[in-house]
Amino acid sequence: MEEQIVTNAEIQVRNPATGELVGTVPSESAEAVAAKVRELRLYQQEWEAIGPEGRKVWLLKLQDWLIDNTDHLADVVQSETGKPRVDALIDPSFGVDLLGYYARRAAKFLADEHPSPHSPLARVKKLTTAYRPYPVVGVITPWNFPLAMPALDVFPALAAGAAVLLKPSEVTPLSALELARGWAEIGAPPVLAVMTGGGATGAAVVDTVDYVQFTGSTRTGRSIAEACARRLIPYSLELGGKDPAIVLADADIDRAAYGIAFGGLFNAGQVCISVERVYVEAPVYDEFVTKLTDHVRSLRQGVDDRRSRYDVGALANEAQRDIVASHVEDALAKGAKALTGGKPTGTGTFFEPTVLVDVDHGMTCMTEETFGPTLPVMKVADEIEALALANDSIYGLSASIWTGDKARGERLARQLNAGAVNINDVFSNMFNFALPMGGWQQSGLGARWGGAEGVRKYCRHQAITAPMLPTQQKELFWFPYNTTKLGLALTAMRAAGARGMRRIGVLDVINTVGGKGK
Ligand code: NAD
Repeated sequence: MEEQIVTNAEIQVRNPATGELVGTVPSESAEAVAAKVRELRLYQQEWEAIGPEGRKVWLLKLQDWLIDNTDHLADVVQSETGKPRVDALIDPSFGVDLLGYYARRAAKFLADEHPSPHSPLARVKKLTTAYRPYPVVGVITPWNFPLAMPALDVFPALAAGAAVLLKPSEVTPLSALELARGWAEIGAPPVLAVMTGGGATGAAVVDTVDYVQFTGSTRTGRSIAEACARRLIPYSLELGGKDPAIVLADADIDRAAYGIAFGGLFNAGQVCISVERVYVEAPVYDEFVTKLTDHVRSLRQGVDDRRSRYDVGALANEAQRDIVASHVEDALAKGAKALTGGKPTGTGTFFEPTVLVDVDHGMTCMTEETFGPTLPVMKVADEIEALALANDSIYGLSASIWTGDKARGERLARQLNAGAVNINDVFSNMFNFALPMGGWQQSGLGARWGGAEGVRKYCRHQAITAPMLPTQQKELFWFPYNTTKLGLALTAMRAAGARGMRRIGVLDVINTVGGKGK
């Protein structure tokens, strides 16, 4: 099969399941990116000015467009990823759900707030926190969900009133271009643009926008953080993971086996929050492994079409397939066993759904992000060992706990170093936009969504004060200084904020340090 080709001028996009050339897109230069950002800045002002209700109209039109074009969009997603039909259909449907949430709620989330003053002295002012968008947000995305990944962050940023420059993965740029086409087709203001290209185009985005929302590998995330720090611009990073699943002896083992198989193999394991390692309490280890292996063996793998005949698709490219193969080979060489799967199928970039046992933390399959269809399973003595091993990672994206005792699940969740914990389920945090989705440790910085925070993160928080009472010619603190006036004011501050008699002794302080001019 031919390698994907990225030149200075253009990128060839191939279906990794078949090797077929499915599109060619430009590799945009830094100058082109800068010019596009200048253009977006002009249109953004009006986009902010129409307010959340005005923007809602366009966002809901886009929602209609996604619904009307779902089959076509799934075709495009499938063509550049080699996914099964069902996996490809998730992208547009997810976008529809998210658009509805932020289009309808942005007005409430972005409404001015009037916090109560912290002290009686501050009651002379009307206090306002206003949410003002960063003019241009750069969204840089990976290849695993070519439409949903952009949607996750582009939609809230648009709802916030920012203009958005999207730089999709060079591996899967076609779906993002479809999104831009949809935005233009509904006649929306030109505040969403897509610039295709590889890492250099992404770096040019980071060099020109006002806020960077990045999803991708930890390595790239770190270099983006460095670039943003140099420019002193804010950023949010959604990075890699090595999500553990813990199966306790009191769990429903059938559900755990089905859920973990789905959590590890959905989208051929190319999900940031996929189950990447499993720890099972000794009493149920054999039963779990048997059920998991039987189920994984029954999954159908192949090149799908619109009829939806397969469960597990191809990997995004040959490089990804080779990473998966190297993790499995490393494990097998160090004594692990593959109970099913264990090698590439030989067609396209497919890799067999794989269950590994007799694994330990000396193997890359348990410590490095695999991002493929593998489920390494390890026996543990008890929950203490399970927690220790689950937390033995540089990552901290999400985790799952399988137990018949919800209180135990919630207790253990609070001992895991992970941005999300799903009890008796996988991925459910991802479908709840009211919750924050963010990685801990090297899995990220910041978070997406989390209700109001999901749009406010794209805003600068502006403090506005205005007098509540008619103003005098001068405030008490203004020049010239006068110890008595100052003493009164400072005493009042201390009286409001502190406790005990010491709080009113400020005149003594002023006199002790040599205050004069009474
Ligand atoms: P990647 O880091 O190689 O690339 C991601 C994007 O960054 C691409 O668009 C790429 O062109 C761009 N890029 C590369 N170098 C850049 C630079 N110097 N400056 C700016 N942009 C640059 O990641 P990938 O291989 O495309 O995706 C897989 C990774 O994404 C996995 O690690 C996975 O865990 C992670 N991921 C995380 C989440 C999450 O929400 N936490 C979701 C999906 C994927």
